Amino acid sequence: PGDGVKKAFVRGDRVTAECIMPCGKCYYCKKGLYHLCDDENGFLEGGFAEYMLLPKNALIHKVSKDIPAVEAALCEPLSCSAYAVNQTGMGMEDTVVISGLGAIGMGMLQFALLRNPKRVIGIDTNDALCEIAKKLGAAEVLNPMKEDVTKRIMELTDGVGCDIYMEATGNPASVETGMNCLRKQGMLFIYSVFKKKAEIDLNQISEFKELRVIGGHLSPGAFPYTIDCLEKGKINAKVMVTDIFA
Ligand SMILES: [Zn+2]
Repeated sequence: PGDGVKKAFVRGDRVTAECIMPCGKCYYCKKGLYHLCDDENGFLEGGFAEYMLLPKNALIHKVSKDIPAVEAALCEPLSCSAYAVNQTGMGMEDTVVISGLGAIGMGMLQFALLRNPKRVIGIDTNDALCEIAKKLGAAEVLNPMKEDVTKRIMELTDGVGCDIYMEATGNPASVETGMNCLRKQGMLFIYSVFKKKAEIDLNQISEFKELRVIGGHLSPGAFPYTIDCLEKGKINAKVMVTDIFA
């Protein structure tokens, strides 16, 4: 740690950092919503490197020596998944669909299973990811290239629809699928970043289903819980690592 930095860390500590560096002064920071900070330059860069400079306003968390480096490197995406799952408030009677089983979606699947809902259904077009999701405990994993996902979800829920649909693909078509397979008053939780605009029937939100549409961004407050889960072996981060380059 450099001069003038609060000595919360000592040489040899293992740490990870959040990607946002909030200004601490804007409307949202003052409200404690630091992940929505207005400072557009408040992002930490250079993470994919051997050495990294963490400025004094970086949000740094200690990682115990019990967590292998390859797993500790996944603290950030996993904390996003943890935050997203927590925001849905899912409970034991919920049928939860997680669309997209990349780093964020696979993390969502695992954190969702920790909350023990009725069932978690995964969706992805990549068979290898579908296999991993099955091994982790997804009740069913659906591939939209091979089957009618909405039809299958309606079958599994006796024609009612799922309670919560978490969007983690970034594909607008998945948002449409979510609106079609959710039950009335179900929750559409959107975490992805999209390149294209979606074409959706807004009547699904109002007249037809009275949906609740919730958004999520980054992972405020979720790092300590995520690190704790990794320390206790509650989350399998290794299964998400396909290649190691260093
Ligand atoms: Zn701010």
